[in-house]
Amino acid sequence: MAELKAIEMAIHHIISNNILQYKIITDSRSVLQALNNPANCSPSIFQLKQLLSKTTATIELIWTRAHIGIHGNELADQYAKQATSRDAIDQHMYIPIRFIKKLLYHDILTVWQNHWVNSAKGRAVFEIYGKANPKRILGNFFLNQIITGHGAIASYQCKFFNGSSSCSCGLSIEDRNHIIYHCSQWSTIRQTLPKKL
Ligand SMILES: [Zn+2]
Repeated sequence: MAELKAIEMAIHHIISNNILQYKIITDSRSVLQALNNPANCSPSIFQLKQLLSKTTATIELIWTRAHIGIHGNELADQYAKQATSRDAIDQHMYIPIRFIKKLLYHDILTVWQNHWVNSAKGRAVFEIYGKANPKRILGNFFLNQIITGHGAIASYQCKFFNGSSSCSCGLSIEDRNHIIYHCSQWSTIRQTLPKKL
């Protein structure tokens, strides 16, 4: 964005000084590629293209490699660094959509996480999945039975059908944690599960 702004300012300089021929040398390949790409719909690029089309001057945009000791380029870098320590902001730019999306994503995730931590519901699942993660969507019926503990598990079934809550291994009550972490009958399958959920 800063490179783009610099080019825009250079064009304004060309226009206001009635310069007919000009070369703008930049080390930002991405800005040049964006300008060259007709499909690019970024508002900042569109604005720059419009500005370029309005000028009568012949402007050549040239790419140069950065940090190889070209005097003008090094000087521009030096000024750019100096500008970061200024107190006042005198240049305002469009905030890229990508940046806004990232902020919103972070905010939504924080709200979701807080809600998940403070909710009174789903505490058994929270023990396993304490961290909200939009990439984890479990649509597996059997896996969901185990994770929630609401399924064909003796300790859950006996609440409704008065049967035994014991596990068939004979060593414990058959509940969710016994099946997932301890019961020897599931040890082979357990080894195939990821260690970190
Ligand atoms: Zn068992």
